[in-house]
Amino acid sequence: MTLVAEILAIGDELIHGALLDTNSKYLAIELERIGAVVHRFSVTSDDPDQLRSAIADACARADVVVATGGLGPTLDDRTRDVVAELLGGPLQFDAASWTQIQAWLSKRGRPVPESNRRQAMLPPGGTAIPNPVGTAPGFDVRIGRARFFAVPGVPREMHVLAAEYVLPAIAAMPGLTPTAQQWLRILGPSEALLGERIEPFMVPGRNPAVGITATGGLLTIRIVGTANTQEAAAAACEATAKELRPIVREWLFAEGTAELPELVVQQFTKAGRTLATAESCTGGQIAARLVDVAGASSMFAGGVVAYSNAAKVALLGVPQALLDQHGAVSEPVAAAMASGARERFGCDFAVATTGIAGPEGGTAEKPVGTVCFALAGPAGTRPWTVHIPDLGRAFVRDRAVFEIWRTLLAERH
Ligand code: ATP
Ligand code: MG
Repeated sequence: MTLVAEILAIGDELIHGALLDTNSKYLAIELERIGAVVHRFSVTSDDPDQLRSAIADACARADVVVATGGLGPTLDDRTRDVVAELLGGPLQFDAASWTQIQAWLSKRGRPVPESNRRQAMLPPGGTAIPNPVGTAPGFDVRIGRARFFAVPGVPREMHVLAAEYVLPAIAAMPGLTPTAQQWLRILGPSEALLGERIEPFMVPGRNPAVGITATGGLLTIRIVGTANTQEAAAAACEATAKELRPIVREWLFAEGTAELPELVVQQFTKAGRTLATAESCTGGQIAARLVDVAGASSMFAGGVVAYSNAAKVALLGVPQALLDQHGAVSEPVAAAMASGARERFGCDFAVATTGIAGPEGGTAEKPVGTVCFALAGPAGTRPWTVHIPDLGRAFVRDRAVFEIWRTLLAERH
């Protein structure tokens, strides 16, 4: 028997596209880590009819349903009421939860409105999940075949309740399928060429399963294995990785499930190299993603967002003549930005971006999506140009940031 899980994200703001559902991504990773097999995510509005059918359907399909959102004190937070309705009984007041809610609010010198009492109500047969980091407790209740967990939508609170209660509770249920993953990061071949090379591994039903995903110009071989224990699953993945490594050796540049900026930080730190950034069209995103990584200070010195020509001259020492002669989006300017940053920050390496993100500003010669890059390092400065498809400002910018990760990871220190 396999323990099947579903994730349900609740909230009008999700349905209207105002907010991206990141809770489900987080829960999917964590559920897999403990051995629950996630079959489906759903996102539903707060509308009671929609919510009722979303909960009822998920609970009819899965052994475990984790729902996030709709637990606040206001009338548009309806998860509790809808679950009580489904269970055919009234909400019950939970004195212990009420005490905690009052204590939490008064500790912060906040008034305790009567409306907060709603958050101390539990559906029939439900157990409160204490919330040490906010007012709304979650709850744990059986609905049909499923054990249903409701936790707040606020990601910070959701993380704590999941880690302290929900995931340990699920990890103690029968039917877990220990699963492990290993990723090989590939740079160079096309997806088709890589696919041919590792074809014998990509047969349906293989355990561990081997698949390829492509993002920008980077490929990832994803190895996903299941076994009786976590250790055995990880060992099976490693055994497959061991067979794959010699086959893809020439293109393999990193391993592990870390994000690309994390890999850059790791690689630079390991090599004892430092980096600075000079960003125009990426607006500081490269620097921002780097400093998201704990430990980035060991390799990242700093960066300049030089958007105007004047800033490129004043802050990075780009010669005005280069700007006049070639324009801001040109390889000579990108090179001058990178070498200026390298020199001013006193780093081993510096990267630069300057491009036309659109929607305006494109010309026949330099259409929207034209981005010039440069990498300055001990061996000199190398500029290059990429024509990114014009799929919107954000796309061009994100793709440009990606180009930098790819370049930095391909750099052999
Ligand atoms: P609260 O007590 O804060 O009202 P709640 O359980 O009612 O908690 P919601 O009102 O649904 O939660 O969501 C609160 C906030 O949490 C949202 O405005 C949003 O910023 C964030 N949030 C909710 N659901 C998600 C989600 N699926 N992914 C990412 N963020 C979310
Ligand atoms: Mg709310």
